[in-house]
Amino acid sequence: MKNEEKIINEFIDKDISKLDNYAPIVNNNKPFFKEKDFEITEGIPKYFEPDELNRASGGIAIISKNTLSIMVEKHLKYPDPNGWTEKINNAKIFQRCHAIAYRLSAKKNDKNNIFIGTEYLNKTIMNNVESEVEQYIKKNKDNYIRILYRVVPIYKSKNQIPTGILIEAKSLDTEFALCRFCYNVEKKIIFKYSDGSIIKDSRGIMKQMKGIQASVEKKIQTKNKNIDFVVNSQTKKYHIGNCKMLNNVDPKNIKEITTKEKSLIDNGYSVCKVCNNI
Ligand SMILES: [Zn+2]
Repeated sequence: MKNEEKIINEFIDKDISKLDNYAPIVNNNKPFFKEKDFEITEGIPKYFEPDELNRASGGIAIISKNTLSIMVEKHLKYPDPNGWTEKINNAKIFQRCHAIAYRLSAKKNDKNNIFIGTEYLNKTIMNNVESEVEQYIKKNKDNYIRILYRVVPIYKSKNQIPTGILIEAKSLDTEFALCRFCYNVEKKIIFKYSDGSIIKDSRGIMKQMKGIQASVEKKIQTKNKNIDFVVNSQTKKYHIGNCKMLNNVDPKNIKEITTKEKSLIDNGYSVCKVCNNI
């Protein structure tokens, strides 16, 4: 086995539920580029062909201040990546993620650049690494910095969903380099990487309560007892039960609180529209 493979395997074999760092440094931040990887034209990213299981394989690009996007991305409907099934769509935690980020390359909508990733991977974990690259280029505005940048989804065995994404970057003009493994995880949710089935969803607290009747009972109890609520700290809404409105909320804004309903209201929270009508 190649040394590079051995290093990567150590990351995909980790127990994901025990991770304390979702974007650990790989190989002392030294990318695995070979000479031929540098034979690529600035402004023309190369997206890799899908692998033998028809899974997205990422891409490589030279990023510079000329390739950074100058526009704020409007939400477009991106092509479905290979392996995007109804089950994955219905899980509501996966997104059509760009390997080479739009903000870095100003290119989008190439199907081979899109893979299945969680919202947390897309908007937080990868975003932080992409920012490092973008900021390095921007803060060195007197030097023309070109960065060779490669993003490769890493799949364990025959899984349809990558365990993580390897991001490698190396400046052609300075010493800057990074090599990071970004785990494809969603906070409070455990899912199967084989097909995207949800194994455990701890975002809602009352999964066990089924049906409207149960919710009504719960609502009566909330009047004067300490009870578990799910609150959105950003919108200051509270939910009773496993509310569909929580599906689209960034998990980092979701908190579970055991308290009296009155004290939530006293603290500026109001009941969610949907929960109020149950
Ligand atoms: Zn609600």
